[in-house]
Amino acid sequence: MRYQRSSALFAEAKKFIPGGVNSPVRAFKAVGGEPIFIKKASGAYLYDEDGHEYIDYISSWGPLILGHAHEPVLNAVIAKAKEGTSFGIPTQIETQLAQLAVEMVPHIDKIRFVNSGTEACMSAVRLARGYTGKDKIIKFAGCYHGHSDSFLIQAGSGAVTFGSPNSPGVTQGTAKDTLLANYNDLEGVKTLVAANKGQIAAIIIEPVAGNMGCIVPTEPFIKGLRNLCTEEGILLLFDEVMTGFRLAKGGAQEALGIAADIVMFGKVIGGGLPVGAFAASAEIMSHLAPEGPVYQAGTLSGNPLAMSAGLAMLTELNNKPGTFDSLAKKTAFLHQGIADVLTQKGVPHQINRFGSMVSVHFCEAPVIDFASAAKGNNDTFKTYFHGMLDQGIYLPPSAFESYFLNDAISYADLERTVQAVAKVF
Ligand SMILES: *Cc1c(COP(=O)(O)O)cnc(C)c1O
Repeated sequence: MRYQRSSALFAEAKKFIPGGVNSPVRAFKAVGGEPIFIKKASGAYLYDEDGHEYIDYISSWGPLILGHAHEPVLNAVIAKAKEGTSFGIPTQIETQLAQLAVEMVPHIDKIRFVNSGTEACMSAVRLARGYTGKDKIIKFAGCYHGHSDSFLIQAGSGAVTFGSPNSPGVTQGTAKDTLLANYNDLEGVKTLVAANKGQIAAIIIEPVAGNMGCIVPTEPFIKGLRNLCTEEGILLLFDEVMTGFRLAKGGAQEALGIAADIVMFGKVIGGGLPVGAFAASAEIMSHLAPEGPVYQAGTLSGNPLAMSAGLAMLTELNNKPGTFDSLAKKTAFLHQGIADVLTQKGVPHQINRFGSMVSVHFCEAPVIDFASAAKGNNDTFKTYFHGMLDQGIYLPPSAFESYFLNDAISYADLERTVQAVAKVF
């Protein structure tokens, strides 16, 4: 059996960890079968416990934009660890990472570090509510902002007034303050805002969505959101946990030319260690404790190991801005290669791409929001996923996830990937 050791390790894991995993998508439920267990990784490649090698198109869901076990990041963490791993009091490296992030990203003056993207989004919404004195938020169906209660709200039919919880344990009381809109539907947002006039603290969005495949906002939509927020005194929150330090030095704000009021980070900013962050103007950030009344804290926030990984990663990206262009070109090459194969084989498909984010949808109509993403043929996706896995290509184990390329991937790797697609179909 090809995945014998992974299978045994999964059985063992399930005895002690719910579902055998510490984050649900890793369990491969959407694609069937069992997860592979990873032993180590280097550059573009993952190595599983059965000794197989994979070209990795997930890069730990985004953080490892320069590839696995990248030397400057590793060296920084190792050196830092020798000086102690956590103090719970200020260290200089927190300021160094903060300063660099503020230099790289437009429209932010100050940044607060936390330990995950979930924490960043949760805290940013609290800050937005504290700042505006309003309770409600608007989110978009299919956008993921971590697993905090306010965000686990599903779309009802059409532009519903009240969301219904997406998970047991989320109360109606929480759900009623999260309003839902559809991605790329500005009119729907305007209707919601008009119906809840003066009550909306924030609109939170993935400025390029990556959690329903990759979905790019139309220019009128994203510009319209900005104008609407400014007119109505609503804060525009860009969840750049995926796009930050990936689409450009300045993330989606730079790539789209749109200013957000609060920006959230995660993934790349931690260089593969647990870091999240949220940032805004000095004026908005002054409302955060201890400067202001909005409480937010963390025992391990600004942890020196995590900061050293983040600082090494952002320093690399800041010094080699060509990385973003290189990644975008590689991703375009992959896009074209896969599109050519699928067209030639007569497989209905849509491919969405922005920078180094790309997703393949097995459907006929353009994918512009959650409803159109959900129309993809999941049986074809499963066949595709497992067919690629067996040929040593590791793709996201869900049709609702974007690929995240890392710059260690070579053109030879990309060509091998396209050939593997041809074999599957
Ligand atoms: C991954 C992700 C999060 C959650 O980050 P965690 O570190 O997993 O808590 C939030 N928003 C977006 C857009 C993400 O991709």
